[in-house]
Amino acid sequence: MGNQSTNPTGHYVDGEWIDGRGSETFESEDPATGESLGTFHRGTDADVDVALEAATAAFEEWRALSHPDRAEYLWDVYHELRDRHDELGEIVTRECGKEISEGRADVTEAWHMVEWAAGNARHPHGDVVPSEIAGKDAYMRRKPRGVVGCITPWNFPIAIPFWHVAVALVEGNTVVWKPAEQTPWCGQVVAELFDDAGIPDGVFNMVQGYGDAGEAIVADDRVDTVLFTGSAEVGHEIASTVGGEPGKLAACEMGGKNAIVITEHADLEIALQAAVLSSFKTTGQRCVSSERLIVHTDVYDEFKSRFVDVAERIAVGDPLDEETFMGPAIEADHVEKIRRHNDLAREEGATVLVDRFDLEPSELPESPTDDVATADGGTTDGGAAGRGDFADGHWVGPFVYEIEYDSDLRCLREESFGPHVALIEYDGDIDRALEIHDDTPYGLAGAIVSEDYRQLNAFRDRAELGLAYANLPCIGAEVQLPFGGVKKSGNGFPSAREVIEAVTDRTAWTISNE
Ligand code: GLU
Repeated sequence: MGNQSTNPTGHYVDGEWIDGRGSETFESEDPATGESLGTFHRGTDADVDVALEAATAAFEEWRALSHPDRAEYLWDVYHELRDRHDELGEIVTRECGKEISEGRADVTEAWHMVEWAAGNARHPHGDVVPSEIAGKDAYMRRKPRGVVGCITPWNFPIAIPFWHVAVALVEGNTVVWKPAEQTPWCGQVVAELFDDAGIPDGVFNMVQGYGDAGEAIVADDRVDTVLFTGSAEVGHEIASTVGGEPGKLAACEMGGKNAIVITEHADLEIALQAAVLSSFKTTGQRCVSSERLIVHTDVYDEFKSRFVDVAERIAVGDPLDEETFMGPAIEADHVEKIRRHNDLAREEGATVLVDRFDLEPSELPESPTDDVATADGGTTDGGAAGRGDFADGHWVGPFVYEIEYDSDLRCLREESFGPHVALIEYDGDIDRALEIHDDTPYGLAGAIVSEDYRQLNAFRDRAELGLAYANLPCIGAEVQLPFGGVKKSGNGFPSAREVIEAVTDRTAWTISNE
């Protein structure tokens, strides 16, 4: 067993909860109410230093264990994730504001990932390669790289850490992880799961904090691999820092400007479902969300009227309420970022079809009055305020526009990470749809809706992306599949199978049988 938690609002280093070396703290905020959920220690270079020291020291003993022995700790975490599914899902929803079904799905995805990684411990990872000389055997063997630094985003605050951490650990690496500064409570919860599982000291370490703590992890020589999921801006910085250091590796997954192509052969009911879910679920705050709907002229008017009708009616509200379709945006700065994209679209000539971005107070539900738990083990102060006041939350609604396609339009090229959706009408064949589809710097996810298999095949084979869907939304990736993109969306695939590549080195092992 690791040491008992004494201060779970600090960092988890070498099997203990420690206070930060610096004096600064930061708050976790409920995006629906602006209420504080807890105060956390802000990690400094010194905190990262002790975490890396612990991870480095723990490596030799950890790597010496067999894969199944290492996976045993992960199985404990897996059972906890399953047993505490609803409770943890609620924490995700409280802290990152996504609707409760999505909060729970975040936890489900986490245990799916752990199941995949720990299950993998009983699969052979090497290859037997025929030697060119009789009397010799050759094998490709994998060995852990060492210390893996993980930096994860707020939008899947429990699931994505496991994409990185579960695989890195099972493969024999030790880990220093920095959760997003917007979701430190989820960071704390994940560290508690590893602590409860009794992971050996120093094998898993978590440092809370901002980008400066992340930079300290990325820049440190003791880190062998950096796994990053987040914005393109930060990802490219990480990739270039790490790229300059021989022997070090970074796998980054960095967002998209994803599209759904709806052809003249589309079933419009399927198209509507796919577009509504991909554009508005989790308030569009997903790297795979669609912000462009590329619709053939033959079905454009009908699709537009049905999509607009749904966007006008979508229920924005208390993310803890089962009926809510869209919760709030993560934070005030993010609301402003999406707003700037909406303004940009207007400036670039968009015809706005739905503008519910600034919701009327009457569109919000009554503020909750119930007491709820906070990260430090206390509860909100109850009384009239209860969980807080929705008037102080970061609410946004759908913003939908149509615009004539032009390659120079920034609103069609830059990611908003919100419920900001462009409808683009096209005339012509699948080549024209693909031309518009591919005209962004990104290439993460996308979908085509069509009943013509030739169009589906053209999209599968030629669209520039990493995750392609047919007659489905472009959200909801399965963990056992590669997850990542091309162009500006990724330089590696930091999920499932491809994480194994990023956290292990191959040795060609040739043995004489003479
Ligand atoms: N797993 C998510 C999905 O496919 C995407 C993760 C992300 O947006 O970062 O919906």
